Amino acid sequence: MIGNAEEVLHKYYGYETFKKHQKEVIESILSGRDTLAIMPTGGGKSICYQIPAVLFKGVTIVISPLISLMKDQVDNISELGIRASYINSSISQQEILSIFSDLRNGKVKILYVAPERLDSPEFYQLMKTIEVSQVAVDEAHCVSQWGHDFRISYTHICKFIENFSKRPVVTAFTATATEEVREDIVNQIKLKKEAVFISGFDRENLKISCLKTGNKLQYLLNYVKTNEAQSGIIYASTRKEVDNIYEKLKANDLSVTRYHAGLPDRDRKINQEDFVYDKANIIVATNAFGMGIDKSNVRYVIHYNMPGNIESYYQEIGRAGRDGESSECILMFSAQDVITQKYLIEMSIQSPERRINEYKKLQHMIDFVHYNGCLRKFILNYFGEEVNYNQCDNCSNCINSGEYVDKTLDAQKVISCVYRMKREFGVNMIVDVLRGSSQKKVLHYGFNKLSTYGIMKDYSKEALSNFINTIIAHKYITLKEGEYPTVVLNAQSIKVLKGEEKVILKESVKANKITAHNDLFEILRNLRREIALEESIPPYMVFSDATLKELSIRYPIDSNQILDISGVGDLKLKKYGERFLNIIKKYIEENKIEPNWSFKGSITSKSERKNDKPKTHHITINMLRDNMGIKEIAKKRQLTLSTILTHITKYFEEENVMDINIKFEELFTYSEEREVLKVIDKVGISKLKPIKELLPDSINYDKIRAIIVKNYILKEVVK
Ligand code: ADP
Repeated sequence: MIGNAEEVLHKYYGYETFKKHQKEVIESILSGRDTLAIMPTGGGKSICYQIPAVLFKGVTIVISPLISLMKDQVDNISELGIRASYINSSISQQEILSIFSDLRNGKVKILYVAPERLDSPEFYQLMKTIEVSQVAVDEAHCVSQWGHDFRISYTHICKFIENFSKRPVVTAFTATATEEVREDIVNQIKLKKEAVFISGFDRENLKISCLKTGNKLQYLLNYVKTNEAQSGIIYASTRKEVDNIYEKLKANDLSVTRYHAGLPDRDRKINQEDFVYDKANIIVATNAFGMGIDKSNVRYVIHYNMPGNIESYYQEIGRAGRDGESSECILMFSAQDVITQKYLIEMSIQSPERRINEYKKLQHMIDFVHYNGCLRKFILNYFGEEVNYNQCDNCSNCINSGEYVDKTLDAQKVISCVYRMKREFGVNMIVDVLRGSSQKKVLHYGFNKLSTYGIMKDYSKEALSNFINTIIAHKYITLKEGEYPTVVLNAQSIKVLKGEEKVILKESVKANKITAHNDLFEILRNLRREIALEESIPPYMVFSDATLKELSIRYPIDSNQILDISGVGDLKLKKYGERFLNIIKKYIEENKIEPNWSFKGSITSKSERKNDKPKTHHITINMLRDNMGIKEIAKKRQLTLSTILTHITKYFEEENVMDINIKFEELFTYSEEREVLKVIDKVGISKLKPIKELLPDSINYDKIRAIIVKNYILKEVVK
């Protein structure tokens, strides 16, 4: 089965190998098991339900809340040659009837629907009359009220599934990893005997930076200008801030658009499309923007303000670099951000229980901003993932060239001040005391008489507040959560105070230009834009940045070679191959480049299937992939069964994977297999003759060989 899945991956998507966990998830779905897959944004969730959809007999229904993006998703897979449709509120009754008819006539493999559709009696009725093999719930965290995007219509999914006379495989996908949300998904959708896959949350290609710069706008402007030709998202927490930044960038002649809930629907739609279609390089937006944005070539995500929790932050930066290319994520922090986030919690959340929960999440976010260790590790640990390194070398704290500074003395001053203040206060009050403020409140408590009063005057108010927050993030002191969090001492604080533990911290960074591409990349990008315009599809649907990059480095000049490039499948070759090849050939000629081509060369690569001289055992393997039996192959290739078995063994020794379904049952019966295994138990497998001698004549050497391959060689490798 998984062999077929790989075939679909090559043929339709043009990808060489599965990404992390895709294979296991697909295997689980293909085996008919309910499956919940938790993968980070950009982890490749769609392929996990799309490939089974192609391989299953009936239709796959995908429930997705992303109405505005359904068209894109459907266009995207139709581009690859997979028959797909969608039904949501933007579709007329006439069109719906025509889709219903296509569904009845088996002309649709994948149907995307908005969850609201599950309330329609006509839709229920139709579902009873067609074969539905899979119901895939995309963005499954919307079913949970603990998630950050709860949707009431998602609670009807369970009833919808129960309506089928033959229950389809139910699959659910999300990027939200917290345990309570995960459990809620399983319970609410009523998954049965589900397999749960949690992919590593690390997105290695994302460089994560956190800045506490004084002049944010100036920094932003510099950054965006330096990376003018790249696609980027700038998030700000309020509409007003979005408008300000937008105006500023516009005034600087940058290619920019904006998105927030205050704009009319039509403008939002146009602006989003301008960004997706590369007509505007930059989009400034509130967090209303981005859910389900599939644009794969976003090279940077800047948070002009700190988001309210790590979940949202990670989801938002996840929109950068979906194509796997290096991308940059910069969070610009200022103390005002905390006040804004608290205000948003107060305004938007009624339930006291949920409010406390949100404050808790906000505190983790604040800790992150002030953390001086590896930022990636901080996030991964937050999502419950253990990492075995201390430095990722791709976050601002790890690559910061600034020196480590011994801040023990300053930390002792803070701790000692907290100790002397006796009562619990927030960070601001401590800052005031340490800086010697003569504010009423300070004098009222008599803090001006403390020995620590005014001992940190050399710090600005903001710098001192940052410093205190940093030592909180590093757990040298503790912040008690709540609307007005207060600072208290802990066991670490005492150690620092006694001089038993040192406080060593690092300073912040500047961000540079993102990786420069070569000339050919730019030329290919222009061609991509041209084709996208002609076809009215977003450029990344023609080819991703990663594909363009590979083209611009490897210089393929014929169709076999271009098929060896990741992201080029059969249909894309047919549609765009020639135009890209012509441009590459021209570039090579003009620049007198002599490409030194070599195929990536794995057996599963498309190139080898079409290449001149594949190795003999690879020919056998390809025939097995085409679902031929061992006997049939032996006959066609005029080889003995024993040779074919040797080919299989060789392949598994090379690849160390079991990805082809071999039909051994045509070679021996179950009882013969038992008999042979019993004898092997006695005499071992090192020699065939002693095995043969203990068996009846009807069990010949080929049968024994095949049983050994199945039970020992393959199992050995599969382990
Ligand atoms: P998610 O929904 O998890 O955020 P997508 O399904 O949109 O992620 O996939 C992210 C990107 O990765 C897309 O551009 C997709 O085409 C690409 N992708 C998915 N699977 C593979 C693969 N096996 N090899 C290379 N690229 C892949």
